[in-house]
Amino acid sequence: MTTFLYSNPICLEHLTPPGHPERPDRLRALEAVFEHENFAPLKRLEAPMAAEDSVLLAHPERFLARVKAAIPEEGRARIDEDTSVSPRSLEAALISVGGALAAVDAVMDGETDNAFVMTRPPGHHAERDKAMGFCLFNQAAIAARHAQKKYAVERVAIVDWDVHHGNGTQDIFYDDKSVVYCSTHQMPLYPGTGALKETGQGNIFNAPLSANDGSDHFRDAFKSRILPALENARPDLIIISAGFDAHHRDPLAEINLVADDFDWATGKLMDIASRYNGNRVVSLLEGGYDLLGLAESAGSHVLRLMRG
Ligand SMILES: [Zn+2]
Repeated sequence: MTTFLYSNPICLEHLTPPGHPERPDRLRALEAVFEHENFAPLKRLEAPMAAEDSVLLAHPERFLARVKAAIPEEGRARIDEDTSVSPRSLEAALISVGGALAAVDAVMDGETDNAFVMTRPPGHHAERDKAMGFCLFNQAAIAARHAQKKYAVERVAIVDWDVHHGNGTQDIFYDDKSVVYCSTHQMPLYPGTGALKETGQGNIFNAPLSANDGSDHFRDAFKSRILPALENARPDLIIISAGFDAHHRDPLAEINLVADDFDWATGKLMDIASRYNGNRVVSLLEGGYDLLGLAESAGSHVLRLMRG
């Protein structure tokens, strides 16, 4: 397998308040992991900044204008209780989008089998018309629409194993059967959505887990709900909303996964991709707030992407 790794140092300059879990050190911890010789075969690329127009693939113009207006000239400003912006946050968010679009292009054009986009802010809580939960723009959703628009891809699957439900991605595709959204997440937990009965047009597959469920429950949810949905959808492209906050060390949740679970889940998705679309997998960093847990988990995930 060939794997592209996208990053950009401007993502370190999206600043959140002291003590905020979604902090620049997350990317520094990942950079340190990918320096190990195991990762030497990765092709490293700078995530480009997306044009503002690409945000409109998943969000209305008034939303983009509101986010831009919220960016302060100095210091920090709050969009909501959890979501802060600093002077370079718009650039960082457009890089999160741009990295996702570049990864889709590289995978669709056959330049690489798969790609991991290591940027922040994350995106899966950003609804069509609302930035929230540390997220400004929903890069997974934008990337899916980009693949459909530019490559005439019919069926895109977004698989979200972040421990929080991706309410934003669900919101954007709730009435759009062309994108299948599958999520494992802890419930009850922020943001409160993600029940089994939220099914959209038959294209939303939620697999809620309970606090203290561990690896077995997570893998059972994958085997019983997520993988059958993907088999049925036969996706032309798989986008992973790769949050690593279901790791047992994470301070925000209690699902208690280990790094090996992310290796396993990655392998299962690659197996689907090998059968239906020639290995096309684009993985986008979402959450993961314990630096060691994040590093171990993302390391296992990317090693699997590289090795198949
Ligand atoms: Zn999360």
